[in-house]
Amino acid sequence: MQPFEFMRPGDPAAAIAIASEARTAQQGADVRFLAGGTTLLDLMKLNVETPTRVLDINRMALDTIEATPAGGLKIGATVRNSALAHHPTVERDYAVLSQALLAGASAQLRNMATTAGNLMQRTRCVYFRDTAMPCNKRSPGSGCPAITGSNRMLAILGTSDSCIATNPSDMCVAMAALEATVHVQGIAGVRTVPIADFHLLPGDTPHRETVLEPGDLITHVTLPAPVGGSKQVYLKLRDRASYEFALASAAVVLTVAGDTITSASIALGGVGTKPWRSPEAAAALVGQAATAANFRQAAEAALRGAKPQSENGFKIELAKRCLTHALHLAVVS
Ligand SMILES: Cc1cc2nc3c(=O)[nH]c(=O)nc-3n(C[C@H](O)[C@H](O)[C@H](O)COP(=O)(O)OP(=O)(O)OC[C@H]3O[C@@H](n4cnc5c(N)ncnc54)[C@H](O)[C@@H]3O)c2cc1C
Ligand code: SF4
Repeated sequence: MQPFEFMRPGDPAAAIAIASEARTAQQGADVRFLAGGTTLLDLMKLNVETPTRVLDINRMALDTIEATPAGGLKIGATVRNSALAHHPTVERDYAVLSQALLAGASAQLRNMATTAGNLMQRTRCVYFRDTAMPCNKRSPGSGCPAITGSNRMLAILGTSDSCIATNPSDMCVAMAALEATVHVQGIAGVRTVPIADFHLLPGDTPHRETVLEPGDLITHVTLPAPVGGSKQVYLKLRDRASYEFALASAAVVLTVAGDTITSASIALGGVGTKPWRSPEAAAALVGQAATAANFRQAAEAALRGAKPQSENGFKIELAKRCLTHALHLAVVS
C-alpha cells in the first residue's frame, strides 16, 4: 500500500474543500473519502486505489434515516447497510431495498458498508483488481483482457469495446427500481442526481464511473413516497447461497388491480455495466394481465439489447428467468 495522509475533517464543508483539490474524483483520485472502508481499503491494499489523502467522514452527522416532507425517506450517506435493511419503514414500505441489502455480502460487511460507499463500489472484474494486467478502467488505453479472457461474471448490457465490467451492487438495483435520488454537496453547492443518471456507461472512458467531480460528497439519498399497495421483490441468483455477487438479479415494484398490472418499475443486477433500469420491461407489463406469458414477454424486452461475451452467454436466459420468477413472486406475495 502507498503511504497516505489520514484526516478527519470536522464537517462536510471542510472535507469538500480538501477533496476539491484532487485531480479527479474518478479512477486515480488522489483524495478519497473513507466510509465503511470495505471497498476502499481492499483496493488500496491491492494498489488499485492510491490516494495520498484519505478523509474519514464517519464522524459527520450523515448517519440518520428520516421521513421527508413529501412522504418519502431520507437516508444519510453513512447509514450502514444493516441499519437500513432492518429499519422498520424500509421493511414495510421499501421491501425490495431491504431484501437487496440483505442479499449482499455478509452480515459483518453489511455492518460496516454504508449507503454512499455502496453507491460507489467498484467492479469485481479480476483484471481491474490485478495491477500486473492491463485494464482500460484502471489504466486508460491499456486494453481490456476480459473481452477475450475471463468474463463469466461480466456484463451483457451496456458494454463497449473498451470495457464489459459489471456493476456489482445489489442495493443500487433496488434503488433504481424505487427511483431514488442521490444528493451531492460540492464546492459549488448542492445538487440532486436521479440514480439512473448517477452511474455512467463505460463507452470509451470506463475509468469514469459516476458523475462526481473533485470535492463532491454524497450527503444522502432520498426515496419517493412509497407506491401504495405495491408488491416488491428482489431476487438474486448466484453461484452460492450467500457471500457472493449476482450472476443475475431482478428488482420488481408492481401494483396490480384484479388481474391487471397497473404500474411497474423494473431493474436488473449482475448483467449491466451500471444498475440496469428496464423501462422496456415495465412498458411491456403495464395494462397487461399478470400471467406467465406476459412476464416472459417483459423479460424478452429487458434483455433484447444483450450482447454476450465468450463465457457469459448463459446470463441472457438466466436473467430472463430471474425476472420472470421475480414477477411471479411479486404477484403471489
Ligand atoms: C468480500 C465482499 C463481498 C461483497 N459482496 C457484495 C454483494 O454481494 N453485493 C453488494 O452489493 N456488495 C457487496 N460487497 C461490496 C460492499 O457492498 C461494498 O464494499 C460497500 O457497500 C462499500 O461501502 P463502504 O462504506 O465500505 O465504502 P468505502 O470502502 O468506505 O468507500 C467506497 C468508495 O466510496 C467513496 N465514498 C464513500 N462515501 C462517500 C461519500 N459520502 N461521497 C462520495 N464518495 C464516497 C469512497 O471514497 C470510495 O471510493 C462486497 C464486499 C466485499 C469486500
Ligand atoms: S472489463 Fe473493464 S474492468 Fe475488466 S479488464 Fe476490461 S476494462 Fe478492465
